[in-house]
Amino acid sequence: MDDNNNNDVILAAVAWWASKRPVEWDKEKHLSNPRINTTTPAESDLAAAVAKLLTPQVPVCGVCGTTKDVKWVGGSNPYKCPSPDCVSF
Ligand SMILES: [Zn+2]
Repeated sequence: MDDNNNNDVILAAVAWWASKRPVEWDKEKHLSNPRINTTTPAESDLAAAVAKLLTPQVPVCGVCGTTKDVKWVGGSNPYKCPSPDCVSF
């Protein structure tokens, strides 16, 4: 499966999830209660997964827990801030 196929799945899942949104709700309200109008456990889980995907993820330093200037550095603890106590070379 290539990236375009993955995008198709994501776009289809997001479109499906949006179709479940009550008409009087905005996206933010739907994100805070993503399982609304789902009828099966599988639908409920898919709705929650879509909401997680659409919620901006703020990277957290894996050492000190700050969110300031955190960068992806890879490895087993991939997010680190620039503090000398956190970045090891
Ligand atoms: Zn840190």
